[in-house]
Amino acid sequence: MNRSDALVLVNARHPYAGALPLGELCPVGRGVFLRREAAGALAALLEEIGAGGRILPVSGWRSGAEQRALWEGSLAANGPAFTQSYVARPGCSEHQTGLAIDVALAAEHIDFIRPDFPYEGICGAFRARAAAHGFVLRYPAGKENITGIAHEPWHFRYVGAPHAERMAAAGLCLEEYLHER
Ligand SMILES: [Zn+2]
Repeated sequence: MNRSDALVLVNARHPYAGALPLGELCPVGRGVFLRREAAGALAALLEEIGAGGRILPVSGWRSGAEQRALWEGSLAANGPAFTQSYVARPGCSEHQTGLAIDVALAAEHIDFIRPDFPYEGICGAFRARAAAHGFVLRYPAGKENITGIAHEPWHFRYVGAPHAERMAAAGLCLEEYLHER
C-alpha cells in the first residue's frame, strides 16, 4: 500500500472510486476485515495496550452493497436525521476502503451503528496510542461542519503513523490535513 492509498479521502463530496483487491483484506474480528497494513497496525495497537478482548472490532470493510443495506435499513428504522448524521451514503463511506474500523468496549449488547467506546479505561489507552499506530479519530467533536458526520467516538481511520501523529498533534481532521475542506 503506498502513501496516497492510506490517505485516500472519502466523504459525501468524494465518493470511493478505488477498487480494493479483496485479497488485501485480513480478518481483525469475527466477520470483520481490514486492509492488510491496517489490520496489522490494529493488532499491534491492541497488543501494546493489553486489550485482551476488552475491545472488539465491530465493523471494518464494507462492500458498496453492504453500505447501501446499512443506509436503507437505518433510514427505515431511525429516520433521515439520525441516518444522515451517523451513516455515510452508499459509495461515500470510508468503510469501503478497508481502512476504517468501528470499535466497541466489549459488552453483551453492542450497537452496530453507534457502539459504546468511552474516553477512559482501556478505550482511553487505545486512544492514547492510536496515532502512534497510524489511526486517527476520524469524526471528532467540533469538526462536524467539515467532515459532514456527527462526532463518532468509535470510528477510527488508518492513515499511517507519520500522518496520524501530525494530524493528532495539530488537531486536524483528514479534510483539513489534505486541504480539502
Ligand atoms: Zn464507522
